Amino acid sequence: MNDLVKLAKTKYNIVLEENRQLAPLTTWKIGGPARYFFSAKTPGEIGAAIRLCNQEKMPYYILGGGSNLLVSDAGFEGLVIKLEILKMEVQNDKIIVGAGETMGKVAAISMQNNLSGIEWAVGIPGTVGGALFGNSNCFGGSTGESVRKATLLGRDGEIKTVEKDYFQFDYNYSKLQDTKEIALEVVFGLKKITKEEMNLNRGRIVETAVERSQKQPLGAKVAGSTFKALKQTKDNIQKLDDKYPRWRESALRDGFISTGFIIDKCLGLKGYKLDKMRISEVHSNFFENLGEATAENAKKLIDFVKKECKNKLDINLEEEIKYVGKFK
Ligand SMILES: Cc1cc2nc3c(=O)[nH]c(=O)nc-3n(C[C@H](O)[C@H](O)[C@H](O)COP(=O)(O)OP(=O)(O)OC[C@H]3O[C@@H](n4cnc5c(N)ncnc54)[C@H](O)[C@@H]3O)c2cc1C
Repeated sequence: MNDLVKLAKTKYNIVLEENRQLAPLTTWKIGGPARYFFSAKTPGEIGAAIRLCNQEKMPYYILGGGSNLLVSDAGFEGLVIKLEILKMEVQNDKIIVGAGETMGKVAAISMQNNLSGIEWAVGIPGTVGGALFGNSNCFGGSTGESVRKATLLGRDGEIKTVEKDYFQFDYNYSKLQDTKEIALEVVFGLKKITKEEMNLNRGRIVETAVERSQKQPLGAKVAGSTFKALKQTKDNIQKLDDKYPRWRESALRDGFISTGFIIDKCLGLKGYKLDKMRISEVHSNFFENLGEATAENAKKLIDFVKKECKNKLDINLEEEIKYVGKFK
């Protein structure tokens, strides 16, 4: 047993694994090993892991469902903490949820209890913690809208409870991205409706599920949207107007410009294959691992699309996926 693993066991009472492969823990199925790995099931265990990292000056990374990540082929030289806090408690119009639960399960439980507001999250593969971090959104709904409060663990090991406003939710953004705090538990505030009203909503939800299956390559090895949607700035609009007079009809959405549309229609890259990666035929902002793709393959495709977009439209695309580990 190596010294760090021994220290973790004797002083912090946590059992670290060494060289755990991360690819199976991501939806892209790409990436190398974590030097150290720990599945944390309680706030106390996460606290202990963070204290260990702080004391040993070792980097750590919080892993949720791995559905929006690209892990480098070399893996992560530190401790990957897979957050597995599971809890689901319905109290009147609230659901109190452990950050390791999936958003899909929260949506399902809300429907069973005639609580409305988060039905849109049915089928989102990520965890509640990941959704809070990136303010996950879909079909007009977003995570932040239903958050009432949450319990967070700071980098200093302090636990605190904060209200919704703390997160400064915005498109694909919550303050956790800056503070690097870890979400432990979230309270969703929902609207109590009648069984009949929920039955009506169910119809909408089935439509949502069908819509998802038509608009996203479900079943493929993907990591959700590769790039963020573009902001509707005057500059971006002008650049598209100059080249694609009718683009507004299909690409303007809730104050944003669809990146899938840009990759498909403006860059003509729908279905484009590079090494072992392909831009999805169903949704051009989803990039598929065709089999044994490496992180280098995925990064090469991402860089290629960014370069094409810059060269052809003078627009900079920004990744929605997060990089884990070192990339060239
Ligand atoms: C098929 C498919 C469809 C998708 N559809 C959508 C969609 O419709 N809308 C959408 O918004 N996204 C979508 N996604 C992307 C993805 O599911 C979301 O971004 C999700 O919220 C990521 O959660 P995760 O648990 O997988 O996070 P991970 O990918 O594991 O991590 C993402 C980031 O969150 C951080 N994080 C994770 N847990 C915590 C925590 N407890 N506290 C603090 N930080 C944390 C990580 O450190 C990392 O920086 C889709 C993905 C796939 C594969």
